Amino acid sequence: MRLAETIADLVFPQKLYCNCCGKYIDETRTYGLCDHCIKSMSFNMNNLRDIDNQIYFNSAAAVMGYGLYERQLIFGLKYNGRTHLAREIADILYDALAAQLAEGKECPWIYDDYIVPVPIHARKLKERGFNQAEKIGRYLSKRLDIPMVSNALTRTRETEAQRGLSVMERERNLTDAFEISPKVSMLLKDKKILLLDDIYTTGATSKECAKTLLEAGAGRIDFLALSSAKSKRHENFPCKEGLK
Ligand SMILES: [Zn+2]
Repeated sequence: MRLAETIADLVFPQKLYCNCCGKYIDETRTYGLCDHCIKSMSFNMNNLRDIDNQIYFNSAAAVMGYGLYERQLIFGLKYNGRTHLAREIADILYDALAAQLAEGKECPWIYDDYIVPVPIHARKLKERGFNQAEKIGRYLSKRLDIPMVSNALTRTRETEAQRGLSVMERERNLTDAFEISPKVSMLLKDKKILLLDDIYTTGATSKECAKTLLEAGAGRIDFLALSSAKSKRHENFPCKEGLK
């Protein structure tokens, strides 16, 4: 356990305090969340492929919205060193897929051959010490019994920060930013890939990852993220989208 994790665990011992608001809870709560926080989160399987017309994805979904409460889980993992949250997040993803199956809906993710996490910048990796998608993937891999190829994709060049760029600028910024080694290409050839990330924002990064994997010979890409602001609710407000 890294020092930051140890300190975080001393301040917020796992399972004793809500993973979102920090309120005292008993150990039996689902995902380590109190009633208020779990009720405040939106659990929706959002079909991102249709929302964004993502042609490189055979399927694409985020299982939660990206509100104040959902953000606490991701921020806790990414910025506060609370890496045990990766297990809770993997459980949320797993349960969402199980619910799809139980409802008789299509669930291609469970039939994928490999999990590939979306990589982060080498600089960020050095700062943070881990890639959050890989942390989540490690648990999801065990639960789905699908092997993960941790370093399948690497960033070939340092891209500019995406924040503040328009969708088109983001895409241009990321073109040819990822690479696959010949060895990994052979492994992934014609295989079904579960491309995993924590958040789906504009989709520019995951799209470029999917494109790189397909060009290297992968058979199909099923994208899965925990959280996206592009929830179904937004479909009712097309003018809001247009104002960006
Ligand atoms: Zn709470």
